[in-house]
Amino acid sequence: MRSTELTEQIQGSLKEVVAYADELRDLDQALGDGDLGITITLGAGAVIEALAEIPQDASPSEIARACAKAFANANPSTMAALVAGGLLAGSKVWKDVEDVDIRAAARFVRAAGENIAQRGKTQIGDKTIVDAIMPAADALDAGDDGTSGLDAAISAAEKAVIDTRSLRSRRGRAAWLQERSIGLQDPGATAMLRFLESWRTASVRTKS
Ligand SMILES: [Mg+2]
Repeated sequence: MRSTELTEQIQGSLKEVVAYADELRDLDQALGDGDLGITITLGAGAVIEALAEIPQDASPSEIARACAKAFANANPSTMAALVAGGLLAGSKVWKDVEDVDIRAAARFVRAAGENIAQRGKTQIGDKTIVDAIMPAADALDAGDDGTSGLDAAISAAEKAVIDTRSLRSRRGRAAWLQERSIGLQDPGATAMLRFLESWRTASVRTKS
């Protein structure tokens, strides 16, 4: 996937993902402060607008950088800052990438997840977005180009999301709930799953 297709693919995915804003708001209301819906809506809108202005000859790395900047500036939440930092870390591993294949996608997702884990002082099992990102990166890395790698990443993220229900939140405002967080699904991990599903929906649409 080269720059023009990548730009369209990101815009298409973000148009899809806003349909999940209410679900993410509700999950975040149960566990946090309920701002995740608005974070996703404002962030997606800002990225779509920023990409509409991006030069034709922008590289994948520059496109990812523009996404990070727009997402960070769209609203001041911790989640927006963490995701933007993750996108920026991803943009750095794409420095020499011109054509984004599944291996490059895996490297991006892994770098983003590692950055979020580091900045959020979070590890797998803390019931955060990292729980869904890292298995998705592994699945992309093991997958074939085309849709099967993405399908595997979605399955891995879906399993991770279901697994968060039985975990206790150990990071962010959700950690205040202590054992009352057990039984509730993590909104951040769910956001990652919904983003991957939106990426698939958008890519099916582009190809048909
Ligand atoms: Mg929140």
